[in-house]
Amino acid sequence: MSAPPTQSLVLTFEDARRVVENHGSRLSPGAHENVALLHSAGRILAESVVADRDIPPFPRSTRDGYAVHAADLERLPAKLAVVGEIKAGPMPGKIPSRLNRGEAFSIMTGAPVPQGADAVVMIEYTSLQNDCVEITKEIAPGENIVAQGAEARRGSVLLDRGTRLNEAAIALAASVGKSRLQVFSRPSVAVLATGDEIVAVDAEIAPTQIRNSNSYSLAVQIQETGGEPVLLPIAPDDPRRLRQLIEQGLQSDLLLMTGGVSMGRYDLVEQVLAELRAEFFFTGAKIQPGRPVVFGRVSCGAGILTRATSAPVSHKYFFGLPGNPVSTMVTFELFARPMLEALAGMSPHPLAFLHARLKAEIRVKSGLRRFLPAILSGEYADSQAELVPWQGSGDITARSRSNCLVVIPPDREHIAAGEWVAVMLR
Ligand code: AMP
Ligand code: MG
Repeated sequence: MSAPPTQSLVLTFEDARRVVENHGSRLSPGAHENVALLHSAGRILAESVVADRDIPPFPRSTRDGYAVHAADLERLPAKLAVVGEIKAGPMPGKIPSRLNRGEAFSIMTGAPVPQGADAVVMIEYTSLQNDCVEITKEIAPGENIVAQGAEARRGSVLLDRGTRLNEAAIALAASVGKSRLQVFSRPSVAVLATGDEIVAVDAEIAPTQIRNSNSYSLAVQIQETGGEPVLLPIAPDDPRRLRQLIEQGLQSDLLLMTGGVSMGRYDLVEQVLAELRAEFFFTGAKIQPGRPVVFGRVSCGAGILTRATSAPVSHKYFFGLPGNPVSTMVTFELFARPMLEALAGMSPHPLAFLHARLKAEIRVKSGLRRFLPAILSGEYADSQAELVPWQGSGDITARSRSNCLVVIPPDREHIAAGEWVAVMLR
């Protein structure tokens, strides 16, 4: 066996993450497609959505009640003449003209407030007597009215290109008349599981063989992030076949490999990538789980084709994720996700953390930033996190029982029960 092909390049978590983010930020956006609003959930917006009119388009009443001059309610109870009724959605010719002093319009939630009126009194504080309304509560000017354009001005940008479309974004697009949206095409992500001991889920299995679970966890994470997973056949620990499959994987927009990146005798992934003249940005990160994570790119001059739908690109990025299943899942979250988001056209955003009190003390060795499976419980300001007992980074059972990862900084060896810790909701 030849010597390791690359110099080991082990970065802190922060540095490794920054390297990925920097490469992601330099990618040029890919192809677009036009989709119906209902099919745009979770997709990344490739246009900016602009207000087609002021929002709200008229001063809008937020209550059922009476549109009044606030100054008419200085002495209580006040009696005002009711001169008409305004429902939501009156046609242009049907909007009452002005409200004069001493008068009130009965008005419904969502209806346009007539000129002259500067407040809406809730119906609860009024009683109607013949054609007059008696009001028992004073009111400040502006109360229960949203001014025209207060939420957004006509022509202003409501949603930026690069936004992931959630229900609020889609509602906003609907509210400005967008029945279709330009979104970025989903990047294809090749998934290559490696290892002689790894067999397909439905294959007959020998006692010492391991079923391929990593391709499945990765496929889920890829789909959730906005990519299209392409599952390749399992690669044996054989450099020739591995190289064939890696070359096939490099046809996709991103290649994720699992296994074969530790320091073992048959950890061939880095060796084959080096043969392809890959550039390595890191070959390890000071984290647990996931230390042997690899990030790099292969130049397309090496005969790698580009996807027909995307603009020609000069590089294909890859991650060699550690084979241990929990490491695979965690390193996807920490490193592959931001890269895939960038390929998918999404604007960069920082990792989000919650905080919780530790239920039981933790003792670890310093030097690594740890992302340990835990259970988050408790309500409101009472959040508590407790590590799930585990057998290390191969323990999918423990990971599946956990609902978050507790983050332990590299300079801590002991964290006492009751201390606040950062938590990632995963
Ligand atoms: P490696 O990174 O190749 O040294 O593998 C580390 C551990 O992860 C070994 O116990 C492998 O059997 C296991 N492993 C590797 N690939 C997979 C996979 N695709 N699915 C499940 N376990 C795997
Ligand atoms: Mg292996």
